Amino acid sequence: MEKILLKDKYFVPYISYEKIESAIDAVAERINQDFKDFDGIPIVLCVLNGSIVFTGELMKRFNFPCELSSVRLSSYEGTLSMGVTRRILGLTTAIKGRTVIVVEDIVDTGKTITDLSEILREAGAADVKICTLLLKPEVYKKDLKLDYVAMEIENRFIVGFGLDYDQLGRNYKDIYILDTAKPDTRKYFLIFGPPGAGKGTQAARLVERFGLKHVSTGDLLRREMAAGTELGMQAKSLIEKGMLVPDEVVEGMIASEIEANPDVKGFLFDGFPRTAAQAEHLDRILAGCGGKVDAVLSLAIPDKTVFERIRHRAEIENRPDDTKPEVIQNRIDTYHAKTEPVVAFYKGKGVYREIDGTGTIDEVFSKLCALTDNYL
Ligand code: 5GP
Ligand code: MG
Repeated sequence: MEKILLKDKYFVPYISYEKIESAIDAVAERINQDFKDFDGIPIVLCVLNGSIVFTGELMKRFNFPCELSSVRLSSYEGTLSMGVTRRILGLTTAIKGRTVIVVEDIVDTGKTITDLSEILREAGAADVKICTLLLKPEVYKKDLKLDYVAMEIENRFIVGFGLDYDQLGRNYKDIYILDTAKPDTRKYFLIFGPPGAGKGTQAARLVERFGLKHVSTGDLLRREMAAGTELGMQAKSLIEKGMLVPDEVVEGMIASEIEANPDVKGFLFDGFPRTAAQAEHLDRILAGCGGKVDAVLSLAIPDKTVFERIRHRAEIENRPDDTKPEVIQNRIDTYHAKTEPVVAFYKGKGVYREIDGTGTIDEVFSKLCALTDNYL
């Protein structure tokens, strides 16, 4: 079970479906006992919408004759109790002289259930039994007896198994609780640049200047391989066969880097994401911890300059093959073809920031600093 996002809020797992089921088994068993010799046919009254799921699960377990009806009555909007109970709506079954088993999802202050119980008695119900999936005993201060309570919970806002947050979340089979963990204040930066742009040099200086964590996928892979971890061995055998390391592996490494560094000011990703699909995955990884890509720092350099820099570097490093114009041009073309969709992705999100990557290392660095400073 993972964290879920409903509108603007995160919820974390709280009660598993298995636990809910066994609590329902137990409460249904008690009701079956109480009604096994009952003379008449009780009405099972589902309080819409929250109790729909619970009522269905509960009724499947009943082994005495019963009818089903429903009613709507709500006192909640969003996560704050409005303190008002509205009138009941949609009661279509005649109640006079009948025994009613009211099925509620949750009893909080108890205002809803006491009002409903009163209305049913006024309508002439012979008896009103209350069954609720959940009760918050710390909050419940009414005298009304709750006949059947499947589970008691602390005073926290929950969703799932029929319960909603602004109408969302009813469909989850487990119960979730509002995540009150502190929000992720770390910043997430990406650095982009063509070969020869001095990305590595700039990244190292930025990280030191701002107290960021440098996350280079190349370095991470080399580290895993050097340490001989299982992941490293897998990666090594793939690379040796000339194959790419699968996205899941790279993404897994990134997710654990994020988790392993809770106290940094931010991260600077280098060499990732390389594709639009990876960019989408990164968004999902970050959404999981409440973060997002804050800025893409892109070093722009004219192709002509890139060409010269690559050739110059190859000459210095004495790699004659890499000085061939067609080899160099091919590297540049590949870079554009690969990064363009990723650039388009981040432009669409409004976080793409391009700076002039020509000039001295110090000039470029001061431009990068001015940009980064806006976020920290
Ligand atoms: P009460 O009248 O007892 O204060 O509130 C009962 C109603 O409030 C429930 O039927 C339910 O609709 C809503 N409610 C109370 N607590 C919660 C909660 O933790 N989560 C959700 N989703 N609804 C709640
Ligand atoms: Mg309700």
